[in-house]
Amino acid sequence: MLNLFQDFCPLAAIATTPTAIQTLEPFCQASGATLWLPSTHRNEETEEENRQFYSVSLKEQIAALWPNQRAFIFGMAAGAVVRLIAPLLQDKATDPAVVVLDPEGKFVVSLCGGHQGGGDRFAQLIARQLDATPVITGASANLGLPGVDVLGVPFGWKKGAGDWTAVSAAIASQKSVRVVQEAGSTLWQRHLPQNHPFVFEDGGMGRQDGETGWGEGENRRGGEPERGRTGEGETGGSKIDCQLSITDSHCPPAHLPTCPIPNTVYWHPRVLWVGMGCERGTSLEVMETAIARVFEQFQLAREAIAGIATIDLKADEAGILELCRLYDLPLRTFRAEQLNSVEVPTPSEVVEREVGSKSVAEAAAILASQTVPSGMECEAVSHSLIVPKQIFRSPPGEAGDNKGAVTVAVARCKIEYTARTGQLLLVGTGPGAIEHITPAAQTAIASVDAIIGYSLYLDLVQPLCRPGQIIESFPITQEKQRVQRAIALAQWGLSVAILSSGDCGIYGMAGLAFEELQANHWDGETPQVQVFPGVSALQAAASRVGAPLMHDFCAISLSDLLTPWEVIEKRLEVAAVGDFVVALYNPRSQKRTQQIAIAREIFLKHRSRKTPVAIVRCAYRLDEHIILTTLEHLLDSPIDMLSTVILGNSNTYRYGNWLVTPRGYQ
Ligand code: SAH
Repeated sequence: MLNLFQDFCPLAAIATTPTAIQTLEPFCQASGATLWLPSTHRNEETEEENRQFYSVSLKEQIAALWPNQRAFIFGMAAGAVVRLIAPLLQDKATDPAVVVLDPEGKFVVSLCGGHQGGGDRFAQLIARQLDATPVITGASANLGLPGVDVLGVPFGWKKGAGDWTAVSAAIASQKSVRVVQEAGSTLWQRHLPQNHPFVFEDGGMGRQDGETGWGEGENRRGGEPERGRTGEGETGGSKIDCQLSITDSHCPPAHLPTCPIPNTVYWHPRVLWVGMGCERGTSLEVMETAIARVFEQFQLAREAIAGIATIDLKADEAGILELCRLYDLPLRTFRAEQLNSVEVPTPSEVVEREVGSKSVAEAAAILASQTVPSGMECEAVSHSLIVPKQIFRSPPGEAGDNKGAVTVAVARCKIEYTARTGQLLLVGTGPGAIEHITPAAQTAIASVDAIIGYSLYLDLVQPLCRPGQIIESFPITQEKQRVQRAIALAQWGLSVAILSSGDCGIYGMAGLAFEELQANHWDGETPQVQVFPGVSALQAAASRVGAPLMHDFCAISLSDLLTPWEVIEKRLEVAAVGDFVVALYNPRSQKRTQQIAIAREIFLKHRSRKTPVAIVRCAYRLDEHIILTTLEHLLDSPIDMLSTVILGNSNTYRYGNWLVTPRGYQ
């Protein structure tokens, strides 16, 4: 099963009192956290797998754990935690997430490492899991904004230079920030709250137009993010003193007039594919030097490297493999005939004679830059090559560290490489009210990068959403588009939740998601998939009228949009003959009005006119409406697509305002 807390593992939970231990225990089970307890609590009978005991002081124990944990959750006084961790804190870029939980588990405080450590997100997930209130004290979260220092994380961007603290502080005091985005996805821009501080300058993102072709839904949050604050975009004025640069370029030195904004921070989307060819046995050092020189000469940011591309003959080249390992870069290889299919500026006959392809570095870079996750395709770019082949040769006679020769070319991809394994979470959101969404489903909704659903359900889950989440809404009819969009984002590397009302696998989106995954030749592993069950309409409706489903029952949808009516009629017939209690989903729409009448006729052949019937509309929603009637009078009451109709069996009876189907105990 997928662990929604995997980003925070290894994860240490620390409790020193019995109440705190009791509160933290279930969370540790769900998250895979190790619960650290003083050895005085060691008790053979309650030995549990994920418990550890310490006999040194807590201070020493935390110091020993600190370097290896991604997150800590303390079930103890915040003051004590502050004293414990104070000597260990180093830098917010590297410190783990630290959250504090009060002994009864009512509040989860994100204490430290809130942004880059992921503490704010961690606290929100724990809160959903434990039904607690997250306490997030950072300014950006309270302004409904993603932290400027984490907004590129979902897309795998690398953080570059700049005074991040100054820019974060400017945002906290509600100053405007100029944004120049030259590379990477602009999705983050489209899901900002109305009063966001960003003023968008055209950073040449015209070439990102392909994004509008992704078939995405409508933005559920933002007003007009393209412009940000009106009237403050004029950089000639003195108002804006901060800039967010999202680029594959190396940051220009601050003293140059090209950088008039004093506080500029850089995010680098990984859009650059480095094509390489080399002599057999070329050393790592020569390759590193070659890349460093090219990137310097062309003012490119090395953080923006997506990966290395070459010919398949070089898939075992030691220097290239070492380079990829050292810098954690993927290696894409292509066959000679694939490379030959690409037009390149610098073909070479010598190379062709040697490896069968007239270009390695240039062609491989271009091909890698054109390989994008399926569903994310955009217009083909004719000139993705931004650095033509550069040749580096070590001086003659060099051996060892400086041996060999290498060619380097760079191509730019429209869609950044995220370096992440996507997740597709199929989430049932229950009949309506938040308290009927399971804690696991709530945690799933709070954890993902993107949420895709139908507008009504998105409104219902709004309180669970985090700032910075991509929330896309689709009309009720566009189920297929919803699923395709979600799969495309997940294949790209994002974690995505598809919401269905009720249960996701009962007339919901789960089945369609699996069918589409299969159509995409899904390998069963990437993206990772998990289904989160929800309370289905039949359970919700039944609970509002008593206990009508106490004996064998079935669900039948009266919608013949996807199922031939003859099939539905046959099922109604056998359910009636079999004396099943029946929950009718999709009972009547504006256009489909006859089906419910036919269903009634079929049941009247086999069941008494007096058979109790419940019509439950919008169970657990503000406009809930319940009617108890009989099979005979079924059509006298309003029935629509927001209703579920429950037909009793031959034993179901009405008792006051309740329906009961006896199971036979009496
Ligand atoms: N996946 C959903 C069903 C979707 S089909 C589930 O498991 O509940 C849509 C149908 O579900 C509606 O036409 C209606 O018949 C029923 N339904 C959904 N929510 C409901 C609610 N809150 N109250 C009553 N019926 C509901």
